Amino acid sequence: MQTVGRFAPSPSGRMHLGNVLCALLAWLSARHQNGAFLLRIEDLDAMRCPRSYADLIMDDLRWLGLDWDGEVPYQSERAPVYEKYEQILREKGLLYPCFCSRAALHAASAPHLSDGRVLYAGTCRDLTPAEIEEKRKKRAPATRVRVPDEIISFTDGVFGAYSENLAEECGDFIIRRSDGVFAYQLAVTVDDGLSGVTEVVRGSDLIFSTPRQIWLYRLFGFEPPHFVHIPLLCDVDGRRLSKRDEDLDLGLLRERFTPEQVIGALAFAAHLTDRAEPVSVRELVRDFDWSRIPRHELCLPPMFR
Ligand code: GLU
Repeated sequence: MQTVGRFAPSPSGRMHLGNVLCALLAWLSARHQNGAFLLRIEDLDAMRCPRSYADLIMDDLRWLGLDWDGEVPYQSERAPVYEKYEQILREKGLLYPCFCSRAALHAASAPHLSDGRVLYAGTCRDLTPAEIEEKRKKRAPATRVRVPDEIISFTDGVFGAYSENLAEECGDFIIRRSDGVFAYQLAVTVDDGLSGVTEVVRGSDLIFSTPRQIWLYRLFGFEPPHFVHIPLLCDVDGRRLSKRDEDLDLGLLRERFTPEQVIGALAFAAHLTDRAEPVSVRELVRDFDWSRIPRHELCLPPMFR
């Protein structure tokens, strides 16, 4: 079976080094296996994701030498497709409207997991039709999916065995917001499933999402892909990079460095090479090997200071 990899950025700003690392590893893995590589723009929240940012992402990827195959879908244009899959969940009796406000969901009394995530308390799980009708007069509901008391396990390409009990560690989750915008969890599963993606590479901050998505894959009748979560990048001083590190976004990096310098630094941070020397993406394809990527945070060389 041909490998189909993908990069699925949310264009809420210019790409920063963390996004580039993700694109680079996803691309290298797919190309190393002579696979296809897809690009998808995850602009579900169209207000926060103007087209100009998507254009810049594509321009930055070309500058880096990372190419992709076929058309580029925009999630903001795909609501009718997501509606079909929402309907599948509805017909299975898994959906219910949730009227909880953001404040109520994050209240101190809400059940919190040890890592700080909030577990949905189930407030709207068993509302009667009359209660639903009454609440609808006051506010538009979000749509939640009822998860089973089931452990979902997978083997991550970097982090190894990973499992989560959906009811205990995730809880019923939102698949559509109260303003009608579909949630990432539903859209990403539908899109990766329909486009035949066999390998998902993304930051380890999304590993908690994967059990939910695997469960949705199964409900929709798709084969779940192989998942690889990559350790987060940190700066020279060991601090995690964030979108706020504007000096590390590609707009400024392109003024200071060549594409080969940026790729060389990231390949070194990811333990793919022994020195932070300039290198092109093509030169890294042949020897690419996931077993070189460590589980701990990846530190950038000092050139980005
Ligand atoms: N759109 C997400 C992001 O930019 C990535 C989603 C994914 O790769 O599954 O963080």
